[in-house]
Amino acid sequence: MKRKGMLVIISGPSGSGKGTVVKNLNPQKGYALSISLTTRKKREGEIDGKDYFFCSKEEFIKKRDQNELLEHAEFCGNLYGTPKSYVDSQIANGKAVILEIDVEGALQVREKFNDCVLIFLIPPNIQELRNRLVGRNTEDSLTIERRLTRAEQEVKFIYEYDYLVINNEIEKTVESIDAIIEAEYLKPHRNIDDIENFNNN
Ligand code: 5GP
Repeated sequence: MKRKGMLVIISGPSGSGKGTVVKNLNPQKGYALSISLTTRKKREGEIDGKDYFFCSKEEFIKKRDQNELLEHAEFCGNLYGTPKSYVDSQIANGKAVILEIDVEGALQVREKFNDCVLIFLIPPNIQELRNRLVGRNTEDSLTIERRLTRAEQEVKFIYEYDYLVINNEIEKTVESIDAIIEAEYLKPHRNIDDIENFNNN
């Protein structure tokens, strides 16, 4: 029987390692990874259409106003949003669609679909967050401070999430996320056809 698709949102402070986690999810699980639109400048090594769809503020606003985004948010001076058409088509195909988005966007999605799975990722401690942000050397010191301030605000929303994963070791984190998704697939409301089949035969 075809599985019902689902939206899986992974949030966490900048430096929590969620980008790396998402890149390391098991390709055999067939998850669909949503690629966001952003006005942020491309970092060294990032590829347009793979890491993000990079665009101007005007293009972003046009898409937002044409209702092409499932959610959108401003994060440390840049705009980010999730293209709606990809998410809709993958959910219709029964896929678990992974959105790696901030808290503001996650709460917008939950308002629209109460049937989504929200996972919050944090490193073992706040010092580790700073170390990761400084260590990856992708932002200047002002941006790092802004992102750390934002991290403090985002962490206050942990209790709005369904699951908390401490990202200590990448393999374990990936295993935990796989386990969460597997368990979510087994929830009765995602298996209504099987229940009907059981009752009618
Ligand atoms: P970064 O600039 O480090 O790639 O991303 C900054 C923040 O924006 C991260 O918390 C990331 O999860 C979030 N983000 C990335 N794409 C989206 C999106 O489409 N929507 C929202 N709301 N946040 C996003």
